[in-house]
Amino acid sequence: MRKHIFNAGPAVLPVPVLEKVSKAVIDLDGIGISILEISHRSKEFDAIINEAIELMKELMNIPEGYHVIFVGGGASTQFAMLPMNFLKTKASYLETGSWAKKAEKEAKLFGEVQIVASSADKNFTYIPKNFTIPTDVDYFHITTNNTIYGTEIKTDFNSPVPLVADMSSDFYSRPVDVSKYSLIYGGAQKNVGPSGVTIAIIKDDFLNSKQVTDRIIPTMLNYKTHTEANSLYNTPPVYAIFVVKEVMRWLKTEIGGLENMKKINEDKAKVLNDYLDNSKMFIPTVPNKEDRSLMNITFVMQDPYKDLEAAFLDHSKKYGIVGIKGHRSVGGFRASMYNALPIDSVKVLVQAMEEFEKANLK
Ligand SMILES: *Cc1c(COP(=O)(O)O)cnc(C)c1O
Repeated sequence: MRKHIFNAGPAVLPVPVLEKVSKAVIDLDGIGISILEISHRSKEFDAIINEAIELMKELMNIPEGYHVIFVGGGASTQFAMLPMNFLKTKASYLETGSWAKKAEKEAKLFGEVQIVASSADKNFTYIPKNFTIPTDVDYFHITTNNTIYGTEIKTDFNSPVPLVADMSSDFYSRPVDVSKYSLIYGGAQKNVGPSGVTIAIIKDDFLNSKQVTDRIIPTMLNYKTHTEANSLYNTPPVYAIFVVKEVMRWLKTEIGGLENMKKINEDKAKVLNDYLDNSKMFIPTVPNKEDRSLMNITFVMQDPYKDLEAAFLDHSKKYGIVGIKGHRSVGGFRASMYNALPIDSVKVLVQAMEEFEKANLK
């Protein structure tokens, strides 16, 4: 039986995609070669990567003047590639969690880093509001979804300087006004594919006019290398790109686009949030509902029940639930409910929680 996969990443993928991919691993579309064996210079792969890019552009309504590139190294390499390419003197960062802090750490290697606002004072359980983005910086960096702490910036705001977003964990979960961003990046393994490929959506004007030119940038770490070679400067992660293409097809044909995906994700989150807001045993760690992520919902046991966390984890396993142990920096539980997680899995989780609460309430 398939489990209810609440893993934070690598994460659940759509079953029809897994079926397509498993066939292609044996034989890609009847050509007598596996997807693991085809050349990245073949016409078959050319069609795959181009379709992946076209679907990504179509689904997120990416305007003219942007490139979509596939690179390696995870979002963690983007933390360094971004300042290496674009930080001339000073950049500003919104500090909303550990991923944001890791991005800051890399930027400090290349210049001055200004923290515009931080929610570190309350262990990142909220999104800072009413901050002013400075105008004398090279770019402003945000993390739209804070995978570990369960907060999310759900609106695209205006920035007086180039806006850069790490969207690793809410990529393609909702419509985004790409025109407000100069660079969006994310690892595929949370919402759009397997681990092994990182996607960047980059505005040509930003690249052409703002890139640092008097710094030595290794070829593979230069965005231009990949925009100019259509991500084929070296051997790209062929298999991972194939899976991304299939996920994009699924988003388009089975889901019907990102408006629908957003509604489905809202419905899923509501099932768990409604229960959490009325539970006498569990409590969400993000008090402000507006700041609560649709992708990762974090919760802990209320004080009198703290010693029951391990027992609940055991109990949840009987329902086929996996991946709900919270990150060590938050504790408790985290239900990651990415695009491909069916609403029925969320209902099963709530059922497991209800039954546990009924049996153990003091
Ligand atoms: C998972 C994650 C990362 C790290 O991604 P890697 O691909 O493992 O380097 C960075 N940012 C966010 C928001 C994440 O969720």
